Amino acid sequence: MRQFEKSQDAYKQAVDLIPGGVNSPVRAFKSVGMSPIFMEQGKGSKITDIDGNEYIDFVLSWGPLILGHADDRVVSALKDAAEKGTSFGASTVQENKLAELIIDRVPSIEMVRMVNSGTEATMSALRVARGYTGRNKILKFQGNYHGHGDSLLIKAGSGVATLGLPDSPGVPESIAENTITVPYNDMESVRYAFSEYGEELAAVIVEPVSGNMGVVPPQENFLQELRKITADNGTLLILDEVMTGFRVGYHGAQGYFGVTPDMTCLGKVIGGGLPVGAYGGRRDIIESVAPTGSIYQAGTLSGNPLAMTAGYETLKALDASSYVAINQKVDKLVEGYKQAAIDYDVPLQVNRAGSMVGFFFTNEPVVDFETAQSANVDYFAQYYRAMIEEGIFLPPSQFEGLFLSTAHTDEDIDKAIKAARKAFSSIEK
Ligand code: PMP
Repeated sequence: MRQFEKSQDAYKQAVDLIPGGVNSPVRAFKSVGMSPIFMEQGKGSKITDIDGNEYIDFVLSWGPLILGHADDRVVSALKDAAEKGTSFGASTVQENKLAELIIDRVPSIEMVRMVNSGTEATMSALRVARGYTGRNKILKFQGNYHGHGDSLLIKAGSGVATLGLPDSPGVPESIAENTITVPYNDMESVRYAFSEYGEELAAVIVEPVSGNMGVVPPQENFLQELRKITADNGTLLILDEVMTGFRVGYHGAQGYFGVTPDMTCLGKVIGGGLPVGAYGGRRDIIESVAPTGSIYQAGTLSGNPLAMTAGYETLKALDASSYVAINQKVDKLVEGYKQAAIDYDVPLQVNRAGSMVGFFFTNEPVVDFETAQSANVDYFAQYYRAMIEEGIFLPPSQFEGLFLSTAHTDEDIDKAIKAARKAFSSIEK
């Protein structure tokens, strides 16, 4: 049995200092019946906790580390950048370099503004959409998570779904009433919402592949129909690609599915493990932001040289073949899991888009938040604890996908499948 004494001591200390001992709720491991594991270091696909337990990491800081931990190119560029000063609050050429790469790879982005997190990106994009259209309401999808901004923390997935809190205290009703929520993948509900509120809707914001209620891909034409109905109604389409951007594929989910939004939110991979977010889109929209326009948005550390450097080095190291290589590993993992589910008679749905993949313990196809809830969270918790014992670190929630990096090897995948087979065989039904 693995020992977690040092993690447990650190946790005891942390609960007195930080709410729940964690700086982001899902790290509490509550839904899998564990307490937080404190990490010490990572290299490539492996991480080690403070008790010396090693794991193959399928969390990758929840997506950013697409090159794996402490990639030599990123670390070396970061050292150089840090020695030159960590922040200026004035322009640096690193900002141009990352912006140029993003604009080059995501055709719908003609101009981009850097912020410090995915939450900031979506909050800012909404303000721009409202300011630009002169409308107040927005439409979002149940189970889509767009960070913790007031307008968006409504019927959200991720940590909120895991903890069973559909809404959060502290979000004023007057703000919530401007957010219309409908089921994901349900165009009929979208059409109904437009028939009721069409002229008031500033934006539709959507995860092009939902990754915060487990992985739920868009059904055929869902994104195209959203594009059409928003264009017909003078409503902006915002793709929240904080998770999918530079992960689902080289041109993001919008390239993968062939849809052109008005605005895109980015985060995670574009910061290569440092705190970054960005929002971009059509030039006429993004130019309405200060100082060219009158919509205000700012940030002391926005475009910070360390974050820009880590993001630039990460994106530069990726090309179309990187995604083919990751996809092949995902293919192998998926085959292994499917076979294990058959062999040990475990209900399992595999949802996937490109290299974004998630497993649900249910026999029901998962297409939205409601069907995601059919997953057996008790099976998940048993499986999760067994995987930790086998040295496989996964997101500690049934409602999150797995993340792979270019650093994961075929041997890592073999080990993960072997561990999953053992875990499935031990699930008490
Ligand atoms: N949007 C999506 C789709 C996300 O997955 C997340 C974070 N998981 C966010 C926004 C918020 O990003 P951050 O945690 O960096 O604020």
